[in-house]
Amino acid sequence: MSGAAVVGAGTMGNGIAHVLAQHGWTVSLIDTAPDALERATATIRGNLDRQVKKGTIAPDAPAQILERIRTGTALDAAGGATLVIEAASENPALKFELFERLDRICAPEAILATNTSSISVTEIGAHTTRPQQVIGMHFMNPVPVMQLVEVIRGHATSDETTRTVMATAAALGKTPVEVNDYPGFVSNRVLLPMINEAIFCVMEGVAAPEAIDTVMKLGMAHPMGPLALADFIGLDVCLAILEVLHHGLGDDKYRACPLLRKMVAAGHLGRKSGRGFYQYPKS
Ligand code: NAD
Repeated sequence: MSGAAVVGAGTMGNGIAHVLAQHGWTVSLIDTAPDALERATATIRGNLDRQVKKGTIAPDAPAQILERIRTGTALDAAGGATLVIEAASENPALKFELFERLDRICAPEAILATNTSSISVTEIGAHTTRPQQVIGMHFMNPVPVMQLVEVIRGHATSDETTRTVMATAAALGKTPVEVNDYPGFVSNRVLLPMINEAIFCVMEGVAAPEAIDTVMKLGMAHPMGPLALADFIGLDVCLAILEVLHHGLGDDKYRACPLLRKMVAAGHLGRKSGRGFYQYPKS
């Protein structure tokens, strides 16, 4: 038994597979959608070529790294992995079912990690017979570039699993930070209320989106304003995370701004729909 499996080959899954393979892991990259696997391989190849041009990896490295990634649609390919990182769509029922299946497929000693942004790691673990080996590995987008991995301990996650995952993330060249499982963890619990407040500022006419983002960039040294960031994340994703915070923590300070709801209802989801707080030309 050796190697890793990444379940879900979308935005996050391809980046996680890339980073694992770059650091010597053999990776089974699994997705139910064959076209997602093709897109993932093309994205990884493109990102590796960019790394060669920047001089951060050797010219012969991409071929060796790609050789370590095997793609497929069958979850059974995760069976030989010591570490599984689930990065499938953010849907609780889907993740619970995936973890029930992974628990049956994988060796008893395998660690099952989830990249969820907002679903309870404790609850995911409770859908397995090994909650002590279930943990959150919350990578940031884009995975090959961003330094942080928020390592989330579920209620039953063991010290040993946490130590192994912290060491693994560090060996991937990332900076892991250990946090406990509460709604939104640290990253989204702190970020989303700021984004939400920026949207209230737009709704109340305090300032235009560009002005709000400029205040936060130049005044607070944020590399990106909260509204540009919301467009990047996706306004539907922002709304879903705020609902998790509001419901999970039971405090009205997390209520989603009505303008955010209205924009999501209108299909103005940010970059991915071409329009959010800003307009994005079709590429
Ligand atoms: P995505 O929609 O780009 O990709 C999800 C992939 O999962 C799709 O290719 C889909 O076909 C696949 N999938 C769905 N059901 C599956 C199944 N049963 N088995 C295998 N594959 C399946 O989503 P994403 O943005 O990559 O997000 C993935 C996870 O990462 C989510 O939990 C999300 O909350 C989290 N996350 C996302 C970001 C981000 O910025 N996009 C950041 C941090 C964490």
